Amino acid sequence: MQRTIFGILTLSSLFIFFLTIEAQPPQENKDFPFSKEKKSPPKFKPGMVLPPFAMEVLELTPEQRTKLKMLENKVSAELNKILSKEQLNQMTTLRPKGSFEKNGPGIPGERKGLNLPDQPSNPINSDYNKSINLPIFQRDNLEKVQNKFGIIFPGESKNLPKSLKLQGNVEFKPPIQFKEFVPATIALDSHSSNLSASGSIRFIHPLKSEEKKRWYRISFRGMAERNFNLSSDSLTLQVNYFSQKGTNPLDGVKKELYPLILKDRKELAVNGLWNQNGGEVWKTFAFEFRLPFPEIDTLEIQLGFKNGHAKNALYSKFYVSEIRLYPIESMETKQNNPKKGSSIVSDPVPIERLIHLGGRWYYNPPTNTPSLTISPTNPLIIDASNANRLFYKDGNWTNPFYENMTAWLRTGYLDIQGNQVSKDRFIPDNVVIEFRDKQMMIVHAKNIPNHPTAQFPEYRNGGKMGNPSYIQEHNYTYYLPLAPKRNPNAIAMDKTNSNRALPMGSTGIAINGVVFYNPFDADNFDATNLMDRCCGHPSPDNRYHYHKYPVCVKSPFVDEGMTHSPLIGFAFDGFPIYGPYEAKSLMAKDLKKNALNEFNMHYDEVHGWHYHVTPGKYPYIIGGYWGEVDRRNFRKGR
Ligand SMILES: [Zn+2]
Ligand SMILES: [Zn+2]
Repeated sequence: MQRTIFGILTLSSLFIFFLTIEAQPPQENKDFPFSKEKKSPPKFKPGMVLPPFAMEVLELTPEQRTKLKMLENKVSAELNKILSKEQLNQMTTLRPKGSFEKNGPGIPGERKGLNLPDQPSNPINSDYNKSINLPIFQRDNLEKVQNKFGIIFPGESKNLPKSLKLQGNVEFKPPIQFKEFVPATIALDSHSSNLSASGSIRFIHPLKSEEKKRWYRISFRGMAERNFNLSSDSLTLQVNYFSQKGTNPLDGVKKELYPLILKDRKELAVNGLWNQNGGEVWKTFAFEFRLPFPEIDTLEIQLGFKNGHAKNALYSKFYVSEIRLYPIESMETKQNNPKKGSSIVSDPVPIERLIHLGGRWYYNPPTNTPSLTISPTNPLIIDASNANRLFYKDGNWTNPFYENMTAWLRTGYLDIQGNQVSKDRFIPDNVVIEFRDKQMMIVHAKNIPNHPTAQFPEYRNGGKMGNPSYIQEHNYTYYLPLAPKRNPNAIAMDKTNSNRALPMGSTGIAINGVVFYNPFDADNFDATNLMDRCCGHPSPDNRYHYHKYPVCVKSPFVDEGMTHSPLIGFAFDGFPIYGPYEAKSLMAKDLKKNALNEFNMHYDEVHGWHYHVTPGKYPYIIGGYWGEVDRRNFRKGR
């Protein structure tokens, strides 16, 4: 799902909102931060009908308040008849059990407040600050980039961050020789001798006042191995809300992920190596949530599972390589009129404020510079620090590049000079976009994948050489027309591209700046079976590329196959490329009505002309250029 209001609305049906009975106005708690001895919990008065915060939010009239009071008196009177004195006493100190135990998987047992580290540390990993390297635009933007993201577990550190708690059949794997370039992961193992494995990753995030926003997105990258198996739907990503510095549990939101894994195994198997295990890929899981009360000051994030039922200890794990939490902006639409009464406001962006950049692109200017003059000498530059201001409109308002513009140059990759990298280096400007006029979007990309990749050069069974190339940092510039034009003389590839309808090499770019190729490597060899578990590999000139649906392109590329897939990139003719789904569990490749043509292209009112990727079905990405292509896209990079 991309970050869209419509998406949020449909998703909200998956969330379970549970109100606790004891929500109280915030009280000063001098014991902060998180002392072991806690003050007695806030009191709940028997007979109360609505929690105080709800009365605030609802803005009751004096008359309603009086009626409510009368109702409460009646309820109290009835309760006094029903309950014993002892029970009434008990009720005044009643606290709900930890919502995770009650509502989701994890280690059983009562949770008394939060089990917090003595010195709560900022979860934002400091590795993110390292390495300042902005060769394209020497802009003082790294700080802004940092502030945009709350990276809880970036998988960069050799040690587990202190604030992250692991329980049960869950194991931290420091940098290891993995199948992929993944410096560190957490493994949730669904195999145990009693066929009932369970465990969780838990993390406390105190919200700093400047972080207090209305909407948040929680996302992580995970990969379910082929034998990861649960006997029920119980792999759950959950956010619990707390007030009073993390001592007072309120409610929370959660999302069940196991059905998504089963769905991918079923529907994406053909996207894997030799048409198998296409669901066994690194993938972004995410959901968005809105803080319902202003007094929330702490979030508890949990990814947990139970009922692990893998009979085989091999390939029985679910790997997590990073978890992210960050505030997002929302667009104001009729579907999303924020309720009055909350003091947490990052007000939604009113559509009238947006500046039209051309085509389907819009820009939300900062409040202090509401107008904008764009010219070749004064281009609008979009990078990781402001990508959430760049909107694409296709029925939804989305920020396709948000979170996709940075990458890590991994140990073992080659840098731009061709030297092998010996220490992971953060690249804040892997993708940078320029708007100079209303005609073109100019994309500068270093082509470093922002997701796990297999280890290249690749050695197979006993040192036999597979792909001998490296993944390397490059500098490319692409020109994408904002209003793509149909080419009346367009031709599509035949079965072997013998008509050279598509060039060898790049044919478009994904929203993370990595290039798409046609289905063939040199000598017309079908390349679609030789990809890593992110569906890419490097070419002889050390350029990482995709020949087919790149399942693990990073969020906001999250696709649950419940609706039309999100945008994943552009062909060099400027026409958008979407993921595989046309509608819920219906792939565009299987359409009978409005079927894709030989270019993998079709038209609808909302998306205009657009390409779809077609897992397991030739031509996999695009079948040819439907529109006119700017020849500059085929120039060699610097
Ligand atoms: Zn290739
Ligand atoms: Zn479509």
